[in-house]
Amino acid sequence: MVAEKAIMDMTEDHNPQHDGDCALHYEENLLWEKERSDSPGVDLPEPQGTPSRTGVAERGDIGLPQVSEPQALRHFVRMSTWNYSIDHGFFPLGSCTMKHNPRLNEKVARNPGFAHIHPMQPESTVQGALGLMYELQEWLAELTNLPGVCLSPAAGAHGELAGMMTIRRAHEQKGEIQKRKIVLTPDSAHGTNPATAVTCGFEVRNMPTSETGILTMEAFKEALYATDPDGADIAGMMVTNPNTCGLFEKDIIEIADLLHEAGGYFYMDGANFNALVGKIRPGDFGVDVMHINLHKTFSTPHGGGGPGSGPICCTEELAQFMPVPTVIKNGDTYKLETIEDRPASVGRLKGYQGQFGMHVRALSYMLSHGADGLKRVSEDAVLNANYILRQLEGDYFAPYAGQGPCMHEALVTDKFQKEQGVQTLDIAKALIEKGFHPMTVYFPLTRPGTMLIEPTETESKDSIDRFITVMKDIANEAKTNDNAADHFHNFPLSSPRRRLDEVKAARKPQLRWKTA
Ligand SMILES: *Cc1c(COP(=O)(O)O)cnc(C)c1O
Repeated sequence: MVAEKAIMDMTEDHNPQHDGDCALHYEENLLWEKERSDSPGVDLPEPQGTPSRTGVAERGDIGLPQVSEPQALRHFVRMSTWNYSIDHGFFPLGSCTMKHNPRLNEKVARNPGFAHIHPMQPESTVQGALGLMYELQEWLAELTNLPGVCLSPAAGAHGELAGMMTIRRAHEQKGEIQKRKIVLTPDSAHGTNPATAVTCGFEVRNMPTSETGILTMEAFKEALYATDPDGADIAGMMVTNPNTCGLFEKDIIEIADLLHEAGGYFYMDGANFNALVGKIRPGDFGVDVMHINLHKTFSTPHGGGGPGSGPICCTEELAQFMPVPTVIKNGDTYKLETIEDRPASVGRLKGYQGQFGMHVRALSYMLSHGADGLKRVSEDAVLNANYILRQLEGDYFAPYAGQGPCMHEALVTDKFQKEQGVQTLDIAKALIEKGFHPMTVYFPLTRPGTMLIEPTETESKDSIDRFITVMKDIANEAKTNDNAADHFHNFPLSSPRRRLDEVKAARKPQLRWKTA
């Protein structure tokens, strides 16, 4: 009962309505808490009177909970329904592109010719699969104008690692790795960017985001030349474009030119590529290497529904260094490269060829949309985000709204609500109460109390309008309730668990279940 107690302890005020089962929501205890000493489960009682016929296969008690098969099945099925997903409702996480996963992709991926092959089969028997990967590489090369494509990284962060290792290898080959130690990142960067740079042995130098939410030439130059007048100690920069404030870095060509002049490489975090796809190509604004989250831009399942897939695309110059394998074509035959085919490569980062099932889904998505359809995707995604921004800018502080349109996501803060004692976290919890998964909160860190809302193109106007209505209701409640701070502090009211004591959960986590 200790685990149960721990959860209760973190709950400010447990909702009595949800003590136990109610409205087809079940209070789901641990399986160990369900077992009864008098009901056999996997451990069977000693046979009485008949000698065991299991011979050497005979086993003692194995210590699993003593519950019946239907009890075990229901336990896991019920818990599986607790996962909120894009198939349940609107999932407006900013900088995360939670879009619908078309069922056509799933159908194609379940084709036995794709689903039942094995990575150790002779290549001659999987030419179709390798041909599919080759075609996906070509689509990605075309969409980014970066000809070197490696599909193997298993997530965006893994792609960052692959890309930064590629940059590191390029400096090694030029004999410059000793003096080029610094990677520039803006302070609005996703945490994985500085983490990747440090993992690759670089030092991170922060560039402050301006009042306008973008990287200025001044801030960039200051960082570029801070410790060397020619920037000769700079290995590269990692920039997300459009950035995590939802804005396009409009000085990016000039910035990339100066970086290249100094001998650095430009890594683009391509997580927000959904705002650009089919419209502009990162290779055209100076990117040397980038990753693409197939589970964001190209609609393959995201999060627990994954696995993810984070291919990288790079310039011809860097292509010799990126990880193996890519799929190469000799005449009519496809083949997965080995390190012998490309000895300058940083080597292998992932078993076999990467997440093949995701390659199938991503190409299915591309082919079903076509070039014109992909362009529509980014246009509609940007339109939806701007619709939200314009609808909410009166009710919430929208620091960048005055500058013109946003890209894939709308950024607002709790500045107005804070005057009533209502903060971003309260707004997020109120959204849960009112039937919406919260947006990304407190990220990016460049402004206090940020809320980052990314609708994507797959939300209907109806669902976006309902979200806007609820957001407006919340703003109105914060403004008009005499005791707004207390009122909001109680949200959510109707969920199986109420607000957790997040400080206590972080400072004194109970990570182990013990029998009482
Ligand atoms: C999602 C995201 C990442 C990391 O991608 P994963 O696939 O989750 O590893 C990196 N940068 C940004 C800006 C992102 O939004």
